Amino acid sequence: MGSGWLISELKISFVCVSKLWPSSTKAELIAIWTAILAVPNNINIVNFYTDSHASIDGIKKFSPHNIRAISKSLNSYIIEQINRVANLKSQTINYIKVKGHSGLEYNDVADDLAKQATTYAILDESLITIPNFVTMHSTVQFQLLWNKQHWDGQLRKNLTTFATLPQCTDWATSSAISQWIDNDLRNTVPIAISSLVNDSINVNRLYSSPVYIRWDHTWNLFRSLRHLNRHGPSFSNFNSFAIKILNNLLPTGDNLAKRHDQIYDNWMCLFCNSELETLDHLFTCPSLSQQWVKISKLSLQFLRSITSNLRIKAALPSDFLNYLPRITTQPSSVVWSPIQYLAKGIFPAFVLDDLRTMKINSHINTICSGLLKNAINAFREHIWKPRCILNVDKEKRLGITKSAKRFRMPSHSRIQQSRVTPNIPGQYQLLLERWKRNWILGHSEMVRFVKKGSNGFDYGWAICRHNLDNLASNL
Ligand SMILES: [Zn+2]
Repeated sequence: MGSGWLISELKISFVCVSKLWPSSTKAELIAIWTAILAVPNNINIVNFYTDSHASIDGIKKFSPHNIRAISKSLNSYIIEQINRVANLKSQTINYIKVKGHSGLEYNDVADDLAKQATTYAILDESLITIPNFVTMHSTVQFQLLWNKQHWDGQLRKNLTTFATLPQCTDWATSSAISQWIDNDLRNTVPIAISSLVNDSINVNRLYSSPVYIRWDHTWNLFRSLRHLNRHGPSFSNFNSFAIKILNNLLPTGDNLAKRHDQIYDNWMCLFCNSELETLDHLFTCPSLSQQWVKISKLSLQFLRSITSNLRIKAALPSDFLNYLPRITTQPSSVVWSPIQYLAKGIFPAFVLDDLRTMKINSHINTICSGLLKNAINAFREHIWKPRCILNVDKEKRLGITKSAKRFRMPSHSRIQQSRVTPNIPGQYQLLLERWKRNWILGHSEMVRFVKKGSNGFDYGWAICRHNLDNLASNL
């Protein structure tokens, strides 16, 4: 990523490009560091104008004496070097935040320089810098290497991410989740969806973000639900319900048949009685359209109350019909309405664009996880609980007792047991192969992330919460 600056009084400017572990803050910090190096020693006070709030914050909050804080903070070795150079030259540095892209002449020039830097670097390799803990003389007295590259970023968080990659990959490739992520494990808009979107408004909505699903909001929700668990069974019940709906683990007909195929064979939807009961069917069942209207209304009501509590002057639609419309006007069962995604714990990135249109620009994390929680809860109250009541009635009618559910073995498992021969890989072998595959997939995702940041990774299928919002536009 490119960094650039200019000192108008001295009529000098500079560009360089940093490689690996890209982030917009890192690029800004490198610009600050190189600019401070260039300021002559006889200048005592340096005013630094930047549009990066994150880098000013990073420098101001940095505490160099605490190894724990250093290992937690991003780009600590660049900040350390900035402070060291300023101290050495006895210069007082003032950081002044200016608004980005607001027509301030010099800021725009610096922005342009940074953008052009990548082009210059292709012609002149000496513009490429790969700063790391060693070359920047960090107080951290060790160097971590991975794949023969220095390990950058927040040491603690990145290491956690790295250690959990196989599990994250396992989850991302599981049958319930893989439909939201493409075969390459990338978080991009599927062709099946984009080919159905044909009007300019919805094309803009769909591509307002470089990613398809904002997994970070799903993770935020589950983190807060886990915290609430301690308040008692009603909280932990909701927590397990949310986990189950996201991962297709609710006891719907198809899942019940896996355990008791003789009892629940061809279990039909209890609302329409014309299709097999699966979780996806409950989202598309024609007999449930009224319930979805209700869920939409509740969601809009929730948004109204949370924005007024947070004192946000939002421009909300007066009617639920104009609230979070589907991404295509074409009738199709492939494309759900946004409220249905939310009820499954999935946060489509275009909903964020919708929130911006409603003039909601602050408290985004709170509002997004609130919307998810509200929709999941509404689905549970208005579709799942009535379904369970109908299910109990049906089981009673058919004379299915609790003991029958407990003791009958699924017939397929008996067949499998009788067929076991030495040539079929055992459970251990299967798990080992799965782990190896996950490790390879997770590893390649990490490589992708280190080199240029990947959309799938940034927004969370691997619990990595880097603040790389501007990355795609800056690459
Ligand atoms: Zn149905």
